[in-house]
Amino acid sequence: MNLILMGLPGAGKGTQAEKIVDTYNIPHISTGDMFREAIKNETELGLKAKSFIDAGDLVPDEVTNGIVKERLSQKDTDKGFLLDGFPRTLDQTKALDQMLKDLNKQIDAVIEIQVAEDVLVERLAGRFICRNCGATYHKIFNPTKVEETCDRCGGHEFYQREDDKPETVKNRLAVNVKASEPILAFYKEAGLLYPVDGDRDIDAVFADVQKIIQK
Ligand SMILES: [Zn+2]
Repeated sequence: MNLILMGLPGAGKGTQAEKIVDTYNIPHISTGDMFREAIKNETELGLKAKSFIDAGDLVPDEVTNGIVKERLSQKDTDKGFLLDGFPRTLDQTKALDQMLKDLNKQIDAVIEIQVAEDVLVERLAGRFICRNCGATYHKIFNPTKVEETCDRCGGHEFYQREDDKPETVKNRLAVNVKASEPILAFYKEAGLLYPVDGDRDIDAVFADVQKIIQK
């Protein structure tokens, strides 16, 4: 089965991806891994991608798409694959559609792990740091034992990194929502979109994911 996994940052996509590839024994195709591999193997596209990355530029779609196509042409994807982190734009979505046609393959399901944005903000913006000793905590996942008191040094002053502040997190999510909307619409139109409620424990979410795959 050929799957795409979608979900906003913090939705638990990574955890579900691991469970899917372990259970169904299909390759996990993430853009990050693909780039690393292509660069390591010094393929033509890998070297091209590297030149953009080294210059601090975004890798153009044609290079990214080429790397994806190379990966999807490899034999281990014949029994299926899980795409994660691609496509990121509508153009990439259309390019993927075309390359799968060229390869005589098709997507069977696009699984979207849905979690409300305010829940994601809680998860992603919860990290805070002791100003005195640098110990890190998380409001939900790793709170201090005594409220507003550092477990390690007893300090009472904490701060948040810019990246962990609610406003920054909200902006990051908004950018992601905007980018994913046309992609989700594309797959909905194609009858391939399967949303899953991701605001539950990992196994409950995975049970729903399995139901979709088994269909
Ligand atoms: Zn401390």
